[in-house]
This record gives sequence, structure tokens and C-alpha cells, in this order.
Amino acid sequence: MTGAIVEDRVLSPKSAMTVELHQGQVLRITDLEGQQVVDMAVWNLHNLREKLSTSYSRTRYFPEPGRAFRPRMTVQQGDWVMSGLCRPLMTILTETADPIGTHGVHHRMCNAFFYAAHGAGVRDGCFEQLAAAVSPYGIPPEDIPDSFDIFQNYPYDVDAGGFLVKEPVTKPGDFIEFRAEMDLLVALSNCPDDVVAAANAFHCTSSGVQIRQDAEWVRHPVLEPREWLLEQLRLHGIDPE
Ligand SMILES: [Zn+2]
Repeated sequence: MTGAIVEDRVLSPKSAMTVELHQGQVLRITDLEGQQVVDMAVWNLHNLREKLSTSYSRTRYFPEPGRAFRPRMTVQQGDWVMSGLCRPLMTILTETADPIGTHGVHHRMCNAFFYAAHGAGVRDGCFEQLAAAVSPYGIPPEDIPDSFDIFQNYPYDVDAGGFLVKEPVTKPGDFIEFRAEMDLLVALSNCPDDVVAAANAFHCTSSGVQIRQDAEWVRHPVLEPREWLLEQLRLHGIDPE
């Protein structure tokens, strides 16, 4: 989308930041040099107890007519990013990487345990970076949700019996855009793993963080989860009875 840029920042390697995003604003995360993961956590700015649920994000969607329920491996362009109350925090508007939907949405972020257990010494991971970034909001580390790991290439391999950490598919300049469906606090961690796994192709680089204002956006009330569900049923022509 087009629109006035209200914030344009660089997230340097091995660092974290927060941004406040108002309903209708669009957050673009750009992989400036390619192959860099950014772990994202999201909260309702007006109720910090409501926060990202990657599980609901993967599994709560309206199926195509006639299709059976199938929990998905990932989320991608067109999908909602859901909260633990099962209502949308964000909508993914656009992705440029090929294939789209190449993100990690199954696990908690890297942390001191992860590096230490794999012989890399005790050092900060995304968890510690992100915890420091959100502490001014009074959010304790234990209230940080499992993250949406943007650009992480993390396929499940049935034969291997586990997830594979592969190099990201992103090229320099690839981006993803999220539209805020309510006012949000968003925390972003440039993943510092350049020693254990190929998550960042063993080389950490900067990411672009841009917020744009959609001039056409008309602010609307954020519905309570049950009201939102009933509205969605109406929009999809599904009888709530
Ligand atoms: Zn990380």
C-alpha cells in the first residue's frame, strides 16, 4: 500500500526494539541484506494481557467451501495474526519472498539456554533482547508470548522426526507487511544466532522497520471476541444456529 511514512528505523544486528502501531497502520519489515530472521511479539496496546497466539494464528481461519479442517504449518499473506482471545491483532497484507509463508510459528524464541546447551556459551538470545525491550511497558519476561519468527525457514521433516533450521529464502529487500487491526505494541528482535543453526545463514544483518499511515483508513471499533465472531459468521454467510 501507499501512504505517509510515520516511522522509518533500522533494527541493527543482535538488537531489539518496540513500536506502537495504531489500528490501520501498516508495519513493513524489510530484510535489508537477505537471510535475516526477526522474532516478533505482539500485544493489544490497551490490554497487555491480550497477546499473540501463534497456535490460533495457524489454526483459526474460515475454510474454503467443502474443505475439511486442517491445522496449518504456517501463516502467510492474507492470514490473520491472532491473539489468545482468538481475534485478529493484524492481517498479513503482502509478502515478497518466494515462497510466501516461510516463517517460524511453532516455537519459542532462541534464548540463553539454547546457546549454552549447544556449546556457544551463555549469551543473550531473542528472548533476553526482547524482554529488555518491553520492560519499560511493565511486561515481565514470563508474559512474553511465543513469537512469530519472520523469515525463519523452519520446515517440519517427517523422516527426520523434527524441524529443520534452514537458511532463509529472503533476498536483499524482501519484505512483509502487517496491518494493525487494533492499537498494538509490537516488539521485534533481530535474531542473534550466528553460531548454532542456519537460521540467519551464520551472519546477522540489519532489518528495516517502517510504519505507514493509510490515508483511506476509517477507524472502527474493536469488537469483543464473541461479537467479532458473530460478525465474521454474517460476513461468511454462516448461520450461527
Ligand atoms: Zn533468535
